[in-house]
Amino acid sequence: MEYRELMERDKRFIWHPFTQMADWVSEDQTIISRAEGHYLYDVNGRRYFDGVSSLWVNLFGHKRPEIDKAIREQLDRVAHSTFLGLTHEPAIIFSEKLIKIAPAGLSRVFFSDNGSTAMEIAIKMAFQFWRQKNNGKYRDKIRFITLTGGYHGDTIGSVSAGGIPLFHEIFSPLLFETIKMPAPYCYRCYYGLNYPSCELHCAEMIRKKLIEHRDRICGVILEPLVQGAAGMIVHPRGFLKIVRDATKETDTLLIADEVATGFGRTGRMFAVEHEDVRPDIMALAKGITGGYLPLAVTLTTEDIYSQFLGKYEEFKTFFHGHSYTANPLGCAAGISTLNIFEKDSILSHVQKISLRLSQRLNEIKDHPGVGDIRQKGLMVGIELVRDSKTKEPFDPSFKIGQRVIKKTKEKGVILRPLGDVIVLMPPLTTGEDEIDMLCDATFSSIEEVIKEV
Ligand code: PLP
Repeated sequence: MEYRELMERDKRFIWHPFTQMADWVSEDQTIISRAEGHYLYDVNGRRYFDGVSSLWVNLFGHKRPEIDKAIREQLDRVAHSTFLGLTHEPAIIFSEKLIKIAPAGLSRVFFSDNGSTAMEIAIKMAFQFWRQKNNGKYRDKIRFITLTGGYHGDTIGSVSAGGIPLFHEIFSPLLFETIKMPAPYCYRCYYGLNYPSCELHCAEMIRKKLIEHRDRICGVILEPLVQGAAGMIVHPRGFLKIVRDATKETDTLLIADEVATGFGRTGRMFAVEHEDVRPDIMALAKGITGGYLPLAVTLTTEDIYSQFLGKYEEFKTFFHGHSYTANPLGCAAGISTLNIFEKDSILSHVQKISLRLSQRLNEIKDHPGVGDIRQKGLMVGIELVRDSKTKEPFDPSFKIGQRVIKKTKEKGVILRPLGDVIVLMPPLTTGEDEIDMLCDATFSSIEEVIKEV
């Protein structure tokens, strides 16, 4: 089908996610037809660098031969069979491999199919764990501590744990209550302090809250080190460790949402490793299949798992599952993904190109329209402001982020902003020359847009 016909049909039949459809239908949009390595191609043959890894999922580029082969071979065996009452080899092999690389103590894999459900499962698992532990002695532990700016997905449970008013506020009558604590957003510190002289006051406040309400608190839910959707808020060093120690001190759980940070994005396999933290529950999705297929897992400890064991008629079972739980094609892609990490020393490459990225980001840090640049590995947020001295934001009607990414697209780079924050999240296998090209296109687009407004 030709571009025009496809576009008309798209506008007639489809409702796109996180998209103001009135804007969408008022313009011609890009229709992707194929991809190769780090590049996407549209139906008119234009090539674009995949600067946000297809919304943070793609690890080693598109059409990676090893993953293609693994999926094709699995397709020749079975595409899908239920995981309720049956099991299969790809899930078994993948689980063992995951547990080998997971933070110590995480020993059980519960499968699902996207980040939101992996977090939904984490929440339900933690809740039910306390209900069942010691014959209900801890039944009152039903509240979660969550962070402002937190994002854990779009299902009602994960929205309840979220803290982005723009996405979550409207649903508030539907949500369960959580104890929301200020995130360590140093650029706009809630407590008006500066790091490191603040001595991580924000973490201390969480510790205090945990001590105060320990009998009611089930656990702390957070994105370790980088709060992605909040605008790549990079936590100050030591924050996670203090929170982790406080959860241990108060007999509450740490639930780490590594959906975005997992699989090498921050330069380590999992972000918690930067602070030698071992969570009680950890959610993984996005990069888990190299960015190929919807698959997710919630990992947990033997202690939590064992509280769900009992006689059938005690009904301690975890009553949760999905039609596509542990899809065999996804598991085959997952196995291949982990093999590539090993074979190609991906993490050392990420560390190397992250340095190049830091050097390049330095070039724009003093620009009057750039308020803050946050980076952890290959996760970058450039916060644009009207005035970097006062930190005054742009009026939302300027759609500053949207304007910048429109320009980068003209220069052959696909990005997706988070409000006024320009996000860079290239694939892990990006080369230094591509980092340069990504930065050149982004910086010049920022310059041009800021001159216009
Ligand atoms: N958790 C985090 C930290 C995320 O960044 C996301 C998605 O961006 C999710 C959960 C939700 O994942 P999914 O979009 O696969 O449902």
